[in-house]
Amino acid sequence: MRSPYTLDNPPPDEPPSEVLVPSLWRVQARWWKRHTPALDQQGAKHPVCGHCGQSWPCHSWACWDGQLGQAVHQSDAPAQAPAADDGAGVSAPSRPLALTGTPEH
Ligand SMILES: [Zn+2]
Repeated sequence: MRSPYTLDNPPPDEPPSEVLVPSLWRVQARWWKRHTPALDQQGAKHPVCGHCGQSWPCHSWACWDGQLGQAVHQSDAPAQAPAADDGAGVSAPSRPLALTGTPEH
């Protein structure tokens, strides 16, 4: 998953409040920043990573970016389904259909 961060808008050193593991964030953000083009490369047509020298976005940057993306999107995922209205005993005629159909998530 892509993170919302770009070279113009890099991840902050201090994790956003929704990040579950702040210590991990700091590591990921540090490596994200390392695997970016050097300043004189950022306007180049084919920039290379300032850390590993691969054409950028390099593989490592993409990995760290994906991890940051996951970290900031964790709060978006429905952590627990609301069970109150869907409780046992309520007739659910669509249930058999739902079981044969494709899962919607
Ligand atoms: Zn790199």
